Amino acid sequence: MTEGKRYGFSPLHSSTIAVICGDGRLAATALAFLAEQGEPKPDLLALPGGALALARSAETFQDRLYALKRLRTLIEAHRSQRLVLMAHTGDTDEAQCALARLMHPGDTPQATGEWVVKRLTEAMQDAKAEFPGVDVQAYLALAEGDGVSFVPVGV
Ligand SMILES: [Zn+2]
Repeated sequence: MTEGKRYGFSPLHSSTIAVICGDGRLAATALAFLAEQGEPKPDLLALPGGALALARSAETFQDRLYALKRLRTLIEAHRSQRLVLMAHTGDTDEAQCALARLMHPGDTPQATGEWVVKRLTEAMQDAKAEFPGVDVQAYLALAEGDGVSFVPVGV
């Protein structure tokens, strides 16, 4: 039962949950950013588009309900006190979030980025109403060249 390499595990839950895009280019970077914020092992909910799935204008009502239900389950089960919502964009078509590109084919990276910020802001407002006892924060992961910066949104 204990064959093979062993990896570290802590039985304690983090008090923070982060909603991130499933895009593998961003996951490790988002975790590094959260570690610098004092959350080395946050709970994660990875969805296409990240927190954009939580906004009231999500693609379909069913998608939003599913995302909110999963998030509520994690927050209640782990007694999360902080919710970090993330979405991402970039300075080129290739650096964009695939979900945003699907929703806005042909738009410039700047126009798509503005749409992402608007929707991330909406998701943050909605999450604050859904989870009144939780500290909700939102960050835009902005890819430019070979770097990513995390810009606070809605503050
Ligand atoms: Zn994405």
